[in-house]
Amino acid sequence: MWLWERAQQVIAGSPLTREEALRILSLPDSDTYPLVAAAGSIRRHFFGTKVRMNYLVNLKSGKCPEDCFYCSQRLGSEAEILKYSWLSTEEAVRAAQAGISAGAKRVCLVASGRGPSNRDVDRVSDMVREIKGSHPEVEVCACLGFLKENQSQKLAEAGADAYNHNLNTAESNYQDICTSHEYSQREETVTRAKQGSLSPCSGIIAGMGETPEELVDVVFALRELDVDSVPVNFLLPFPGTPFADRHELTPHKCLRILAMVRFVHPDRDVRIAAGREEHLRTLQPLSLEICNSLFLGDYLTSQGQPGEKDRQLIADAGMSILGGENLPPLDPHAHVSEPPAASATPCGAHAGTGAGSGSGCGGCASACPRQEDPRQGERIIPADSPTSITMPVPAIRQRGAGTALPPNA
Ligand code: SF4
Repeated sequence: MWLWERAQQVIAGSPLTREEALRILSLPDSDTYPLVAAAGSIRRHFFGTKVRMNYLVNLKSGKCPEDCFYCSQRLGSEAEILKYSWLSTEEAVRAAQAGISAGAKRVCLVASGRGPSNRDVDRVSDMVREIKGSHPEVEVCACLGFLKENQSQKLAEAGADAYNHNLNTAESNYQDICTSHEYSQREETVTRAKQGSLSPCSGIIAGMGETPEELVDVVFALRELDVDSVPVNFLLPFPGTPFADRHELTPHKCLRILAMVRFVHPDRDVRIAAGREEHLRTLQPLSLEICNSLFLGDYLTSQGQPGEKDRQLIADAGMSILGGENLPPLDPHAHVSEPPAASATPCGAHAGTGAGSGSGCGGCASACPRQEDPRQGERIIPADSPTSITMPVPAIRQRGAGTALPPNA
């Protein structure tokens, strides 16, 4: 099949063309698995079977003055997410430590908002210094919004390794996902990060009404920007946001998007990000054949599957955690609950805490919130979707940074 041959040419240095990228996106479901295998040959050539685990720390949640339509933290969002102002350095370091102890080799320090003030940069610089001081082997990535002159240099001087700022979608689709800023400003911040010697991390959110051509546009724009890491998010349609009713993705479509990104960025970190659990569902393991990196545990405002389950996913895929040689072995008897039904009664242990709502966690200890997977409710995918199964509404993060509950790591 042409895919396999083309993958070997990509490995040898022949870049994918736009036409070929579009051809990948238009493959039928029956060709998705051969596509995954071909993309996997690229992944295995450059990264073997290692998986880099990243860990998100949401330093400041909600209350953003911007209006990104997909975002639960946007101005006017009615999503019932955690809302809090800056974590203290101590709180941020404690949260980062949880991810590092569980095997994360990159910590992402993220704050909502248009962009940091110089004081904010100083505050985050202190956190970076603390984390790097005790864990010099762990990469720290900051994600604070639009950068002003010299702010990336300051973060780099404090020891930050990378800066994340996603392009999210193609320039031609940008006005349909946000009106409070422009695509060009996003490109500018990625460039500023590079100028400050920070490794540029920038990715996409698929499933926001973009055409296949626009998907290819943004992935090629990232190649133009020569980014080092490409996080691929799949839209989580949060109730209370303008995109609450968007359901454009299927597991096969997600795999084709990931494979296209791998073909275009053969030797870069391709990171499966938010929406992994909801959109790939039982096909999650196949994403690791394409992506060499994932986020451990929870996301910024939504809840990921239990961190133990992420580690199990990697092990079951026949892969291993980058730098995870000294991690304690997985407990085969670990309590990993399945998503509860929408009507499940609250677990007595956590009644009134706002933590999980699973009736299936009888006998759990106080550390239980990190192991629950409380998907909230269900929603039916529109009839014109190739899959007619149901998918859960995004579960709101209720634990970890900004709460008194243990993190999911
Ligand atoms: S994506 Fe960032 S800038 Fe946009 S609304 Fe959300 S937090 Fe604000």
